Amino acid sequence: MSTTPTLRVAEFLPRSRANGPGVRCVLWVQGCPQRCEGCFNPAFLPFAGGSEHSPAEVAAWILAATDAEGVTFSGGEPFAQAAALAEVAQAVRVAGRSVIAFTGYEWAALRDAADPGQQALLAACDALIAGPYRRELPGSHPLLASGNQEIICLTPRYRREDFDTPHGRRREYHIGADGTLTVTGFPRAQSDRSAEPGGERNDRETR
Ligand code: SF4
Repeated sequence: MSTTPTLRVAEFLPRSRANGPGVRCVLWVQGCPQRCEGCFNPAFLPFAGGSEHSPAEVAAWILAATDAEGVTFSGGEPFAQAAALAEVAQAVRVAGRSVIAFTGYEWAALRDAADPGQQALLAACDALIAGPYRRELPGSHPLLASGNQEIICLTPRYRREDFDTPHGRRREYHIGADGTLTVTGFPRAQSDRSAEPGGERNDRETR
């Protein structure tokens, strides 16, 4: 019998071009221990929200998206549910797909982490976009919300330049079968956020 905990999921999007190289699934996990000022996804901070799923169930969602080259984990904080998410990531990698994780932890803190679940997730990731959101340090890279964050390539699957986008920041609007709007990607400027349909409430932005 597996002792792996279930995964608390905030949202899943099977297809995005705004969350790393190529077409990717995006999995937002529920819950984050940090409280960055200006966090883009405040609805995903409490650990009590979202819905619970087994790692096998979540991996099946990702692998069913046959045109996606991999998955990007966001949140919430992926490394706060690292043991369960490592199982998902391992299944995705075994299938030949790639794994990228946004995290609010610094790269050095994760590299030296004693938690075996965090080390397992790190070993199953091809790249990280790491560091807390610092509103006072505007980011210039399309995938870095603040200037302190780093893109860390952990395997040869991606090079640093694969994360560059020719047209700068990308913003996507997805309307689900039930009519819900999901917004993902990055606003070009902080002021753009107030002009979004539904405002902050409907944001599903990467950090
Ligand atoms: S920006 Fe990221 S790390 Fe910071 S509080 Fe929000 S979800 Fe957590």
